[in-house]
Amino acid sequence: MRTSGDGCLSARDECGVCGAPRDAGRTVGYDRCRDCGHEARRGAGSAIPMINELLDAAAVRRGSVLGAFRARAAASCAVEGDTLLDVGCGAGAFLYAQRDRFRRVVGVEVSPSSRDFARRELGLRVEPAVPSDLSSLSLVTFWHSLEHLSLEQIGDALARVRAQSSSATRVIVSVPNAGSALYRLVGERYPYFDLDEHPQQFTADSLDRVMARGGFAVDRRLFVLDYAAFGYLQGLLNCVASPRNHLYGRLKRGAPAAGSAVRRAARDVGHGALAAAFLPAALALCLHDRARAAKGAVLTVCYRLAP
Ligand SMILES: [Zn+2]
Repeated sequence: MRTSGDGCLSARDECGVCGAPRDAGRTVGYDRCRDCGHEARRGAGSAIPMINELLDAAAVRRGSVLGAFRARAAASCAVEGDTLLDVGCGAGAFLYAQRDRFRRVVGVEVSPSSRDFARRELGLRVEPAVPSDLSSLSLVTFWHSLEHLSLEQIGDALARVRAQSSSATRVIVSVPNAGSALYRLVGERYPYFDLDEHPQQFTADSLDRVMARGGFAVDRRLFVLDYAAFGYLQGLLNCVASPRNHLYGRLKRGAPAAGSAVRRAARDVGHGALAAAFLPAALALCLHDRARAAKGAVLTVCYRLAP
């Protein structure tokens, strides 16, 4: 246990989630709690405007495989269809896809360019922070957004959500899992590892504690096959091929690959062939996740107001 000069435990050596002592994390740049396993980036953590997708209206309107899984998760958790709030909504794809399932859809996005795109191109209401005029929230979603925020920012967002929640409100949180077998196995090659963008790396325990502090209890844990399968596939690819997360960039973000057309084609074919070879192993590892949700590559949990 490290101590400050006067012999007392320094605040930076205590877990911000549970208060237990911390050690070096599984990857450089993070400290890991001995009790809840939460990993916090050394230094200040705050929201960084990040564009995680191409701002392409036609692509948003087309939808994606990822969107279909999110839609199924939403349908399985929501009990009312009044207001959907998507926190960290990016370009607004999920809100746009859900606009006929809820009476009102509202987004929160810190990136000004994504916010402007969603408003201008898709006609969505998107705010820079959780608004306080929503009164009755049916479903609140945090799709890979909590890990971008400081614990203080998370507390503020959850307080605003709780103030507008009822017993029918459901909150879906999906984050990378620092307690996963995949992260333990591949470390910095974990597809969701991002020291610059993620001040927090949650475990099932630390996420539940943060949500409990915000007034929410577990309703059910969800198994999202595409997250799990893709996580293993990209993690295995990252161990043998470069650049890191090439497949992710090509499939999810639609990013053009660097280099000449010939090199791009060769890289796509090479990564594609390796992905096909790794697919059986990735699916087998998914079965492992299905049986042990707390160890899955990604945590996706549905919460409700605590009694
Ligand atoms: Zn802790």
